[in-house]
Amino acid sequence: MIDSNPTNGPCGCAGCTCRKPIDDQTGFQVGEGFQRFNQKHDQFNRSLWDPTVRSDKVRRFFESYYTDKASFRKVEGFQHRDYALRNASWYVADFTADLLETSHDRKEGFLDTYTLFREGATVQKLDSTPAENSAELKRAARFLGADLVGICEYDERWVYTHNYSRRDDREKPIDLPSDLPYVVVLANAMDHDTIQTVPSALSGAATGQGYSKDIIALLSTAQYIRNLGYRAVASLNDTALSIPLAIQAGLGEYGRHGLLITPEFGPRVRIAKIFTDLPLEPDQPIHFGVREFCGICRKCAKGCPPKAIADGEPSAEPHTISNLVGVTKWTVNAEKCFGFWANQGTDCSICIRVCPYNKDFSKWYYRLGRRLAGTRLRRLLLWLDDALKFGQRRTAGWWWGRA
Ligand code: SF4
Ligand code: SF4
Repeated sequence: MIDSNPTNGPCGCAGCTCRKPIDDQTGFQVGEGFQRFNQKHDQFNRSLWDPTVRSDKVRRFFESYYTDKASFRKVEGFQHRDYALRNASWYVADFTADLLETSHDRKEGFLDTYTLFREGATVQKLDSTPAENSAELKRAARFLGADLVGICEYDERWVYTHNYSRRDDREKPIDLPSDLPYVVVLANAMDHDTIQTVPSALSGAATGQGYSKDIIALLSTAQYIRNLGYRAVASLNDTALSIPLAIQAGLGEYGRHGLLITPEFGPRVRIAKIFTDLPLEPDQPIHFGVREFCGICRKCAKGCPPKAIADGEPSAEPHTISNLVGVTKWTVNAEKCFGFWANQGTDCSICIRVCPYNKDFSKWYYRLGRRLAGTRLRRLLLWLDDALKFGQRRTAGWWWGRA
């Protein structure tokens, strides 16, 4: 499946060979038939134009983010207070996304890059090396709210072929300059305890809060780069696939559930990225045993109600048009996954809750467990995870009732 021809690949990226040396470190096998992703095919966008996805349940799912239109239930986790908190947690993300949608057809952060910046410096800071710039940038980004920061080289394979306008239901050209050689990848942790209550509307607050924190760190860090006199294009879910860039930037490994697994927060992160020409020193991908652990663990696949997660070996076969084509990896069936979200009226993170890497790694014994999970003792660690009943659901009442 590997493309050994060093000329342009079938993806059509200028000078791209589809397969790159960094793939040996990330574990993504990019092969013949690889195609860059078109954002129009994203599962959420399909719910606007694809009759096989559109339904009353899907409409009600999106409407529930306006609290007056949510269908409150008596069961814990789906009551008025749960939707009120979930929707409040999305406030920063929603506000910035809605700001220019009607007037400029830009849904920033979800369909378009951010343009909400002040003027930067007109003079470039030139008195430091790429290594010094990288160290200072990481220091600044953490100060500005990022939990994790990594740097990789620009990789056109993960940039969408098109953006998508939900306002006008049309494809739009990508507005990313092609001469920005580095990508700064930021990640922010999602709350551990609310995730324990998945499935619930309450647990959706972890997602919204993660995005909102990410946006503050992202916009502030991009402004810092602009204030150094360099270009910085800030992107959240729009414009490019975040997970491969995060892995190439050394933030973590790829899990069976299709998510980034970081050493610090496991799969409990939201990701953002900045494309820039600030001279930087890229990081290297890391390996702490996730691939091997996922090979023996299937907790996410077993726990997923609609069985959207692969329980076999990595494969290049896409399930639907919402999957990437030509990359051998574990792939989630986005139609099944989103169908479950629509049915229950909120997003789902069961695969995050049950993942053995979903621990509070500020505690030494979990860090020790994580280290052992990367060794031949992984089966013992998996057994312990079951025996100690990690990943079990807690009630929303437990969360609300705590001091
Ligand atoms: S979010 Fe829920 S439905 Fe989707 S893959 Fe994870 S467990 Fe399955
Ligand atoms: S639950 Fe297990 S198989 Fe799934 S991503 Fe986490 S470690 Fe891997």
